Amino acid sequence: TVECRNIRKCYGDVEVIRDFNLSIQDHEFVVFLGPSGCGKSTLLRMVAGLEDITGGDLLIGGARINDRDPGDRGIAMVFQNYALYPHMTVRQNITFGLERAGTDKAEIERRLAPVVDTLGLAIYLNRKPVELSGGQQQRVAIARAMIKTPEVFLFDEPLSNLDAKLRGHLRVEIARLHKALKSTSIYVTHDQLEAMTLADRIVLMNQGRIEQIGTPEEIYSRPATLFAAGFIGTPN
Ligand code: ATP
Ligand code: MG
Repeated sequence: TVECRNIRKCYGDVEVIRDFNLSIQDHEFVVFLGPSGCGKSTLLRMVAGLEDITGGDLLIGGARINDRDPGDRGIAMVFQNYALYPHMTVRQNITFGLERAGTDKAEIERRLAPVVDTLGLAIYLNRKPVELSGGQQQRVAIARAMIKTPEVFLFDEPLSNLDAKLRGHLRVEIARLHKALKSTSIYVTHDQLEAMTLADRIVLMNQGRIEQIGTPEEIYSRPATLFAAGFIGTPN
């Protein structure tokens, strides 16, 4: 579970997240959807521990983690700008985190196989990132996160740099991995199609607040506010 209780975030005098309350169940896929600047990334970065929390409580698995280091929160994150290690092979990029954590070799191989298989990376394992296309690099970044067994996966617009075809393909793969790994996922996007197809629940945000929370069906068929009605169905 992930619980946000009255989370606030200020940069100087500007409050960019206010009164954010949300409870995410185990195995749930929650999508933060909203226009540019509404605070999606800020919220995700607070969950990840990359950003201080101005007010409120953040709990993962029932424990308050406001002041815990990023490496100690049980999360794995995939960014929009996936930074791979250039001097390492694809295989090393994916397994580095587990090796550093002291996971034994047989266990690493056991976990590597399904992730590599699902993401179609088997033939690239010995290449360096520079020898891959952008989409292939993005798959490596997803594999690197998904080989871990964190409490929570965080995705910040992981597909936004890719062409439509690859985006559709990886969207399906992320959904499949989420189910296979029984993950809990928070996924940030401003792409309504991604939100519709991936989400168990959508959190629709506007100017640092929640406009509406609901299943894709609820959000799309019964928008609760003028903002929701205006945002949904508008091309982005
Ligand atoms: P996008 O879809 O464009 O990525 P977002 O919903 O992820 O947008 P955030 O990056 O969370 O938006 O930004 C929320 C607000 O906080 C914006 O108004 C932004 O200008 C502001 N903001 C973000 N980071 C900082 C910072 N380091 N200092 C000051 N203001 C910031
Ligand atoms: Mg963002």
